[in-house]
Amino acid sequence: MTLRYCRGILNSISGPSTSIFTHKGTIPAGIKGARMSRDKCNHSWTMTDVKYGFIVTEKCYHCNLVRTYFTFEEAPPKEEYKEGAHYWNYEGSAQSIKFNMRCGQCSKVVTFEDLMGLMQCMACDEACHVNIISQICEAQNIWVYAGLAYKSGKEIDLPAEKLDVLTTYFTSRLRTPGKKILVLPGSLRRNPETCRGEILKDVGMVSLTPET
Ligand SMILES: [Zn+2]
Ligand SMILES: [Zn+2]
Ligand SMILES: [Zn+2]
Repeated sequence: MTLRYCRGILNSISGPSTSIFTHKGTIPAGIKGARMSRDKCNHSWTMTDVKYGFIVTEKCYHCNLVRTYFTFEEAPPKEEYKEGAHYWNYEGSAQSIKFNMRCGQCSKVVTFEDLMGLMQCMACDEACHVNIISQICEAQNIWVYAGLAYKSGKEIDLPAEKLDVLTTYFTSRLRTPGKKILVLPGSLRRNPETCRGEILKDVGMVSLTPET
């Protein structure tokens, strides 16, 4: 999935007209017109429903299960607690934001309920794929970020279409001509527990893009 996805996303950022997803099935006649115009829309994404909080990682010291979730509390909870058969211990946290994307032209909304953060790998490990891809892409003027997504505490990858929306949006925010941002699946990290980097924590991307 990953390699196929990377090819798709690289194609999609090299040409704005390329679409990497297709619609299946029949569309009811009544909404056909609306759907067609959405498909043709070049989408101008804006962030919506922005909420600030923390990505928190916990580990059960009984069975070593690790889980990650997002909290909107003012500070991440650090006290150990028991839940069912598990004894959760605080492992770490990072400030982050949650958001959805909305097209200002056709009003299409893409939700990111599973996305908990965007991370730039800071050369954590020579074997970390995000690190390797980051180094290759840097020479091409592309900044790489991993989309950290979790469902029920377990890491998942966002579908290619959603990573494409993030890539398009963050690239459009850059002021440096020729620069691009590429958002890749979080599972490309060598190890989510040891991959270290900067997490996007502000809408203006000041924390992610040191353009000066
Ligand atoms: Zn649109
Ligand atoms: Zn456990
Ligand atoms: Zn890494």
